[in-house]
Amino acid sequence: MKISVKLNILHQMNQIYDDFISSYDLACDRLCAHCCTRNVTMTTLEGHRVFKYLESSNKTDLLKRVKSDAKKLRYAPLITTNQLAQLGYEGKEIPEEDPGEAVEKCPVLENDTCHIYEARPFGCRCLVSKHNCKEKGCAEIDPFVVTVNNIFFQFIEHIDEGGFFGNLTDVLFFLETNKTLSDDKANAIEHPKSDLLKNHPLSVLLIPLENREQIKPLLESLQNIKVPKEV
Ligand code: SF4
Ligand code: SF4
Repeated sequence: MKISVKLNILHQMNQIYDDFISSYDLACDRLCAHCCTRNVTMTTLEGHRVFKYLESSNKTDLLKRVKSDAKKLRYAPLITTNQLAQLGYEGKEIPEEDPGEAVEKCPVLENDTCHIYEARPFGCRCLVSKHNCKEKGCAEIDPFVVTVNNIFFQFIEHIDEGGFFGNLTDVLFFLETNKTLSDDKANAIEHPKSDLLKNHPLSVLLIPLENREQIKPLLESLQNIKVPKEV
């Protein structure tokens, strides 16, 4: 599937999520950036979206800032969400992740403003809290929202078959190195020599028993997403 088609699907998914989350009373707002650390992760598909946004808004200089900050420690995931779901389903051991101390600010944050807010990855979009995290010390997320978030992570990974998953900094570096890739070639890229993980197809959904009825309308919306024709 071409990147342009996948981006269209991702856009529709974000709209479904935004509609869903708008019914919750949240403390989050655009200028609240306490949760914006260097540990944010994304798929290469979401990285393509960030690149397109940077190009269309004349902000490609931002990549220099990301580069100049790249030696700082950051979380690199050991496993993707779909791998985790499969291991859990099979009752196998799940590697213990260590995100470490999230003290450093996200490299695309400046004066509490996200430079890529419109194109921010789902990992940022779905980090929501009932109360102000700065005041309480951590986020409080409704358990059903956590379930919905996992499902969206799984679908995003699934539609980005052939792509990769990792820390925002590593994904942006990787795509910059491969920036001449056309839509047609983008899925034929070699595995990067970096901390990125290969995306996995969705095989089993992470839905606790108590959420199975409640989540049905959202699953239907995801299944009804229209896939545009490739040209
Ligand atoms: S999750 Fe917490 S820190 Fe992040 S925007 Fe929401 S309230 Fe602010
Ligand atoms: S990409 Fe934007 S929203 Fe996400 S952590 Fe960085 S500054 Fe925050």
